[in-house]
Amino acid sequence: MNTKVWKVDNFGDNLINNPQIVDAAHFLQENEVVALPTETVYGLGGNAESDTAVEKIFAAKGRPSDNPLIIHIANREQLLGFVREIPENAVMLMDKFWPGPLTIIFKKKEGILSDKATAGLDTVGVRMPDHPVALALLEKCGLPIAAPSANSSGKPSPTHAEHVMEDLNGKIAGVLDGGPTGVGVESTVVDCTEGVPVILRPGGVTKEQLENVVGEVRIDPALVDEASQPKSPGMKYKHYAPNAPLFLVAGGMGFLQGLADEKRREGLRVGVLTTEENAAKYDADIVVSCGRRSELETVAADLYDTLRRFNSVGVDIIFSEMFPSDGVGHAIMNRLLKAAGNKVISE
Ligand code: AMP
Ligand code: MG
Repeated sequence: MNTKVWKVDNFGDNLINNPQIVDAAHFLQENEVVALPTETVYGLGGNAESDTAVEKIFAAKGRPSDNPLIIHIANREQLLGFVREIPENAVMLMDKFWPGPLTIIFKKKEGILSDKATAGLDTVGVRMPDHPVALALLEKCGLPIAAPSANSSGKPSPTHAEHVMEDLNGKIAGVLDGGPTGVGVESTVVDCTEGVPVILRPGGVTKEQLENVVGEVRIDPALVDEASQPKSPGMKYKHYAPNAPLFLVAGGMGFLQGLADEKRREGLRVGVLTTEENAAKYDADIVVSCGRRSELETVAADLYDTLRRFNSVGVDIIFSEMFPSDGVGHAIMNRLLKAAGNKVISE
């Protein structure tokens, strides 16, 4: 399949009639799948009402079929079409965070969305993305769009259209290239079906931000305790992994440098993941600086590109600094631990 690249670099008025967006919307209406920029990462969109379209998403990504997709909408009227009820907590969260990086789990109306999109669950995760290209495309096609991250399953999520092409060229109808995404980590997933909201996946909206709006917010025990069964099926899978084994290092810079030296003496090509503050202080085959530790938002924005960069230079082993787990650091550490398969070396 020839994968089209539609470049959209002018986000001005009347985006809904931009010829690239009109073309991409047409493909969605024909149940083809197209990648689109959102404010978190690039998504791989398909008609959420069509089994055919949803099957194409799972096939292109190689995604396990029990991992449900998030449904993307342009306005709240669409939501009423496929959810059974909208609890008060959810209304407050939508008022504050939509459009934005917050996915809310609702009880699903039967018989409207493809059961494959929701992996047979009686609930559905929904969000309204805060990106002009995504919103224009959703508005134009008029369909609820199922869209997981537009990467091969298991790889780091795509934050540039080039990452999408690396993984999915030839497997999807097209990609709308709207430049790099902003937040850089996926949406926060919050379950509002059972009273107190529960965070199932940390992401672009922090626990503190949610609490400011709805008061008490819980965290799914599976996010802190490996032994519990996650309520979000996707959280059990390996994710975000670079090709070389990645180890998180809980210790000082000297300790990390010592680990790097030891592996280089063994003849391995060693990569170090750090931030701008410390990059010049390490000695390794490649030192990649991922944003600034003093502003964790910049680390989130660069994280997946950094992980992919180690693949393009080719290393045998990667050692990474760790980050504080508060605010957006919660999402950063969640993704890094998954990328590392939970391998942590402590001083
Ligand atoms: P991705 O599409 O890669 O951003 O992953 C979507 C995430 O949302 C996965 O971790 C899913 O398990 C989670 N998710 C989607 N729908 C539901 C749902 N109905 N209940 C719980 N988690 C969900
Ligand atoms: Mg994903």
